[in-house]
Amino acid sequence: MSHHKPKRLSADFAVLLTQHGKESVIGPVLAGDGLLTLRHTDAFDTDTLGTFSGEIERTLSPVDCARHKARLACELTGASIGLGSEGSFGGGPLPGLVGWDQELLVLVDLESGLEIVASAEGPFETREWEATDADSLRAGLQARDPRQGWLLQTDGYLDKGLLGAEALLQSASRLFEQKTGCAPGEGDPFPWPLRIQPDLRAMVCPERQVAIRKAAENLRERLLSRCPGCAAPDFWPDQLDFGLPCGGCGFATGCLRQRRAVCAHCGAEECYPVEEQFADPGRCQICNP
Ligand SMILES: [Zn+2]
Ligand SMILES: [Zn+2]
Repeated sequence: MSHHKPKRLSADFAVLLTQHGKESVIGPVLAGDGLLTLRHTDAFDTDTLGTFSGEIERTLSPVDCARHKARLACELTGASIGLGSEGSFGGGPLPGLVGWDQELLVLVDLESGLEIVASAEGPFETREWEATDADSLRAGLQARDPRQGWLLQTDGYLDKGLLGAEALLQSASRLFEQKTGCAPGEGDPFPWPLRIQPDLRAMVCPERQVAIRKAAENLRERLLSRCPGCAAPDFWPDQLDFGLPCGGCGFATGCLRQRRAVCAHCGAEECYPVEEQFADPGRCQICNP
């Protein structure tokens, strides 16, 4: 292992490609340990790679999309280290019942060949709601985070980044006028319940900002976690080994046995067994088929 050249970052700054203000969330986390200064570029319209509101379909997987943005950031600026961020919604342990947000942050260092995929995921509470008139719209907004932006979308009509009651009511008027030929007067019920969806772009979505910060913290920890063999960063227990023996019969169960870190550069390995030595026989295919 010793003849491998140590892998280290080739620069002390990285460039993030974003038009959605993510630099203010990610930058301070990486600057904290003097790891990386974050610069950002908006020289490319990342919405052409797909939007949450669906006007442009995403064709790349989330990790490929984040990687692509990281490489674009390098290409556009000439920097050697690029960062790409990508969020995806849905999935999780109870799809359809519990909202779920996964945030990925991919760092590519074109010069050293390092690539780090950091992530954070968890429940996501912000969801769509309905209002039947101006009063119920105002009341609904008061019960929600005032920093959250909303969007109105009905076949052919799309208005994003709506913050506050006045912006939403004006947009609703335009929508109803476009669809029915006349806008409802102040105090009138809406012609149909207005569907108000969250705008998931980071700068108008505080709940997502929290998740992006967690992904940035994961990236920071991965950068600080060095391989014992060659000191490359991102020595991280990503590999999961299952087969914890059953406490009743000793048969390998589907329960997690250990996590394992494997260095992508020199192959050094470290295992982190789970605390329990045996699995509950209730989880065993032989004791509890
Ligand atoms: Zn190594
Ligand atoms: Zn058993």
